Order: sequence, then C-alpha cells, then structure tokens
Amino acid sequence: MRKIAIVPGSFDPITNGHIDIIERSVKIFDYVYIVVMNNVIKKTLFSVTERMEFIKQSTNDLTNVQVDYTEGLLVEYAKKVQAQVVVRGLRAVSDFEYELQMASINRLLNEQLETFFVMTKTKYSFLSSSIVKEMAYYQADVTDLVPEVVSAALAASNTKKHGKI
Ligand code: ADP
Repeated sequence: MRKIAIVPGSFDPITNGHIDIIERSVKIFDYVYIVVMNNVIKKTLFSVTERMEFIKQSTNDLTNVQVDYTEGLLVEYAKKVQAQVVVRGLRAVSDFEYELQMASINRLLNEQLETFFVMTKTKYSFLSSSIVKEMAYYQADVTDLVPEVVSAALAASNTKKHGKI
C-alpha cells in the first residue's frame, strides 16, 4: 500500500522551517500533499494562490509532492486523497497544547487518520511565518529564513507599504 501523507498549514508564507519538515516527510512517505488550509476567519498577508505558488517554486526539486489547498476539514481532504497520515512540526512546548487538541479532534472525526510529529531542527526552532512577516515589515534581512521567492515577495509588499521604489 502506498503511504500517503498530508503536510497542512497556513504557510503565510512558507519558511525554511516548513521546507525542512516537507523534505524530511518525502523521505518517509511515498507521496506528500502540501495543503494550504484556507481559513476564512484568519487574515493572511498572502492569498491562497500566492502561498501555493511560493510552495511550488520552493519544492520543485521534489518529485513526490503535490501542492494543493482546501477550505474544508482536514479529515475530509485526507479522505479525498486517501492519506493515512498528517505530518505536523513541533518547535517548542508552546506548540504542544494546540497540536494535541488538533490531533485529538482529527482522531475523533476519523479514527484511521494518524498525526505524526516531526521535531524542528534546532536552527529553525524560533522560526515562524509571523516572525518573518514582522521582521520583513521592519525591513530586517530574512534571506536566510525563507526561500528566495518569499523574500522577494516580502520585499515587494514592503515597498508598496512604505512607498519606496
Ligand atoms: P498553522 O496555522 O496550521 O499552524 P503554519 O503554517 O504556521 O500553519 O505551520 C504549519 C506546520 O508547520 C505546523 O505543524 C507548524 O508547527 C510547522 N512549523 C512551522 N514553522 C516550523 C519550524 N520552524 N520548524 C518546524 N515546524 C514548523
């Protein structure tokens, strides 16, 4: 049986921490769906299309991945693509409570769907999309933290905001 996993997230935008989780997942599973969860309540900096495009461009060297999005429940998406596993990253104890809650709810909705956790690499333990956006807003250098396509997009969105050319 083919082992299929989902790596879900907001990816607003994708960071090198996300990419590390994705690259480690593709070594374990036969096929990986990277799924942008479009939560209509959450306000995001980038649109779903932009977020998907950044992920596509940053993972185009990987052959067994597909970038997708959903506006529905993760368990429904998993059923649709016949995934057995959800992969989530853990950075610090502070991630644990939310992740335990999500994993428990998903288990309640679908007993068959397992959630696997991958520990972040120490060098990415502080890294989040929010911190990257905040740094970029204050024009700090984020080039070591995100793929090139993302740092370019952040710089462009900053130029618009600050009115510089
Ligand atoms: P969500 O809103 O679903 O938490 P994110 O895009 O913030 O979406 O994160 C998606 C997944 O990537 C989560 O499992 C999160 O813990 C993980 N993740 C985010 N940043 C890192 C990082 N620096 N190292 C490891 N995992 C990370």
